Amino acid sequence: MARRPYIVGNWKMHGTRAMLSEARAIDRAAQRHMKVEVALAPPFTLIHPIHREAEQISVGAQDCHHADGGAHTGDISAAMVADAGAKFVILGHSERRTGHGESDALVRAKAAAALAAGLRIIMCCGESGETRESGRAVAFIKKQLKASLPAPADAPADLAERITVAYEPIWAIGTGTAATTADIGEMHGVIRQLLVELYGEEQGREVRIIYGGSVKPDNAAEIFAVPEVSGALVGGASLTADSFMGIALAAGEPSDH
Ligand code: PEP
Repeated sequence: MARRPYIVGNWKMHGTRAMLSEARAIDRAAQRHMKVEVALAPPFTLIHPIHREAEQISVGAQDCHHADGGAHTGDISAAMVADAGAKFVILGHSERRTGHGESDALVRAKAAAALAAGLRIIMCCGESGETRESGRAVAFIKKQLKASLPAPADAPADLAERITVAYEPIWAIGTGTAATTADIGEMHGVIRQLLVELYGEEQGREVRIIYGGSVKPDNAAEIFAVPEVSGALVGGASLTADSFMGIALAAGEPSDH
């Protein structure tokens, strides 16, 4: 069953209320491009204001804690972001794995908490430039993803609706140089195979796999034409409605999907 391409903006630690006008512009444009599912993950502080006004886009968080609540100063639970209006959470982003020392086991625990709170998850994976150069990228991604995603016995029944995988090679994030279409195609194929092994043919084939790493309006169409690419996780180019919706438009081209 063909699903709409999924285009998700990750605003990272960018955005005060002054950015709400940009979110409004994205929402308005998304209403004119219904062939694409558009979503934004702003900083925590903007989840509720964007959710309150949005008519078309869904709003998500960039992280959540694995515990339900308690003495965790500065942290935020899955139920809290859901209460603020988040429908999904990005987990295992390389900036959290490296900047905050998040292990695969911690990311998996966060996934369990998020799913229990009714959120969808975008599970990120990605190898470093060094790992790729040493020829170990495929083995690394399989191991990282297998240990970060819910174990088959713990996966929700509607997992294809609830889980998206984002392949984000670290060396392509924020560098202006996306991975080649050959590299993207190879890794998305590997991830698809792993999902089928883990969750079975029916569910494993339905989970969306999106690409992230320097996606821009001018390279989006060729990336979306790669088999098994169901959308994009977009950092820098999601900060303005013009560039973000340029990417969404490329995803909605009938010839690509
Ligand atoms: C990201 O960090 O998720 C990302 C893909 O960033 P950028 O698009 O800026 O490379």
